Amino acid sequence: CGIVGVIGGTTLAAPRLLDALRRLEYRGYDSAGIATLVDGKIDRRRAEGKLDRLAGVLQTNPLPGMTGIGHTRWATHGGPTERNAHPHATARVAAVHNGIIENFAELRAELEAAGQVFQSDTDTETVVQLLDLLLAQGMAPEAAAHAALKRLHGAFAMAFLFADHPDLLIVARHGPALAVGHGEGEMYVGNDALALAPLTRRITYLEDGDWAVITPTGVRFMDMAGREVRRQEKPTHVSG
Ligand code: GLU
Repeated sequence: CGIVGVIGGTTLAAPRLLDALRRLEYRGYDSAGIATLVDGKIDRRRAEGKLDRLAGVLQTNPLPGMTGIGHTRWATHGGPTERNAHPHATARVAAVHNGIIENFAELRAELEAAGQVFQSDTDTETVVQLLDLLLAQGMAPEAAAHAALKRLHGAFAMAFLFADHPDLLIVARHGPALAVGHGEGEMYVGNDALALAPLTRRITYLEDGDWAVITPTGVRFMDMAGREVRRQEKPTHVSG
């Protein structure tokens, strides 16, 4: 449902992500979570229920790291439990997702046959396990993301975080809105300008069918054929 991301900079990601998620609470949700990179490894905290519960978990068990992704979930596939809360993750990759992967059952059967072990009942985890398999086969994150996205049917806005790549977030849009925010040596991701308002006024919306490679200093937008496309930055006037 709600998607946020932050990359680069010198400020801890988790509090910024939590703050951005609070601005997306109006969309409704049943659970929430945050994943960051800590010494190149993916770590995450998730909680059923309100963001205050996630805040409590983070207080007792803080999550370091400057690059990360966050999510408020409105369950469609799999009950509203901590186990089904996003980010979904393996040792190699983590993802947050807004929407539905329609061909998840077929993908899950294929991935389980290939030896991938699922930890949740969600449609979203099929994307994570597909990426994990492609990465394990030696693909670089960008190639793996492109290959995985081409296999997905349905409606999605997504953000991916990769182990050992603190300088990389990959996002995609097929249906629900998704925006990239521009900062000074850091970049952001959110569903809309409202989520990003405290961080930046400079945002670029992905167009339908776009995916994008984000680093601390910039973003490259691509279409599904893998061709680079130009997308206009738009100043917003949402008050922080
Ligand atoms: N379909 C996904 C799930 O049930 C994402 C739902 C959402 O948009 O929050 O986990």
